[in-house]
Amino acid sequence: MLDTRELGRRPGSQREVTLSVPAPADLGIDVLTVPEGSPVDIDLRLEAVMEGVLVTGTARAGLDGECARCLEEIHDDVEVTFQELYVYAEHQTSHDEDDEVSRLEDDLLDLEPQLRDAVVLKLPFQPLCTEDCPGLCPDCGARLAEDPDHGHDEPIDPRWAGLAALAQDEPDEK
Ligand SMILES: [Zn+2]
Ligand SMILES: [Zn+2]
Repeated sequence: MLDTRELGRRPGSQREVTLSVPAPADLGIDVLTVPEGSPVDIDLRLEAVMEGVLVTGTARAGLDGECARCLEEIHDDVEVTFQELYVYAEHQTSHDEDDEVSRLEDDLLDLEPQLRDAVVLKLPFQPLCTEDCPGLCPDCGARLAEDPDHGHDEPIDPRWAGLAALAQDEPDEK
């Protein structure tokens, strides 16, 4: 919550605010999130307009997650921008608009919904450790990025080797 009282209500008055807030829980997507409590650095420009306060912001935060292909940990960061008009509590809007309008409550504005939306939009649907991550070996689960030439001529499990031998023997018994 950010207090806008110092800004005043004269349209055109502006204020820049820099703040660092602890990240709320579940900021991000399942596989890539801003760790709860880690700092989110926010630069804001508040501008009073006729019907409320126009907020333009940039936020930066660290990310923890895992690669969708090889499950390697990812430590990255994200920078998002957002803009939102917070309408004064007493300012009338049409009923249709009401649900979508962000409102100032007691001259306080809540940045969290805008921050969440901006971060989720910015994150990749499937985060990767590197753009061309080759993923995991389907046979043994090794990370192919660490061992690109890796292959299996022989089945790994000796029991499977036994089965393979049986399968090969079968035609001969006819
Ligand atoms: Zn990967
Ligand atoms: Zn393998």
